[in-house]
Amino acid sequence: MPSDIAENIANVRAGIARACARSGRDTSAITLLAVSKTQSPDVIRLAAQTGIATLGENYCQEALEKIAALRDRPLIWHFIGPLQSNKTAAVAAAFDWVQSVDRLKIAQRLSTQRSPELPPLNICVQVNIDDETSKSGIAPNELPVLLDAIAALPNLNLRGLMAIPLADAGPEQRRSSFARMHDLFESQRARFAQFDTLSMGMSDDFEIAIEEGATLIRVGSAIFGARPRKADK
Ligand SMILES: *Cc1c(COP(=O)(O)O)cnc(C)c1O
Repeated sequence: MPSDIAENIANVRAGIARACARSGRDTSAITLLAVSKTQSPDVIRLAAQTGIATLGENYCQEALEKIAALRDRPLIWHFIGPLQSNKTAAVAAAFDWVQSVDRLKIAQRLSTQRSPELPPLNICVQVNIDDETSKSGIAPNELPVLLDAIAALPNLNLRGLMAIPLADAGPEQRRSSFARMHDLFESQRARFAQFDTLSMGMSDDFEIAIEEGATLIRVGSAIFGARPRKADK
């Protein structure tokens, strides 16, 4: 419900503060990304007025319309959904970040299609941390080679890693997935100049993710309310 957005954001920020207090972290180390898939530009504008500066979108066509409608605001747009080759040109032109890169071919296309006039496109590599056969993301053991290849591409800025743990995992299983992501992140961090982003944690588990080292959390329904089922992907 739009009228609840300010209150919802305040509640999420309180949760961030609690998790930071428990784990001895500073809240300034955490970026709150609002996942605005299925939400209208007017609703996103309300969130922006409450201090949200970073948005995440999953569907290219839907996102392009919203980015255009909100061009008057200084928002930072992250593409977080599965990315097909035929969408890379539009994504490279309109977004500031892509968090869902999991193969070299997609990174190469983004690199070629990102205009050198724009700042480099920020990239997170998505990791399949729970080894799910149906899930996007690269296997942890294949990660270093992919990161090296991406770091060598022009017009991209390799910023870190992203993961979506098993949807039906309980809190302790999620914590273990987040902890493994944090180990992977730390093991790669020193090799790349601007590798500073560990994107993990959503509405139901962002406090656990922060306790385990997330630097960016992706929160949708806890800010905007439940989404219609069809788009809930
Ligand atoms: C939809 C989505 C989210 C937000 O999920 P909520 O449970 O609504 O917070 C986060 N990350 C990705 C990749 C998503 O697709």
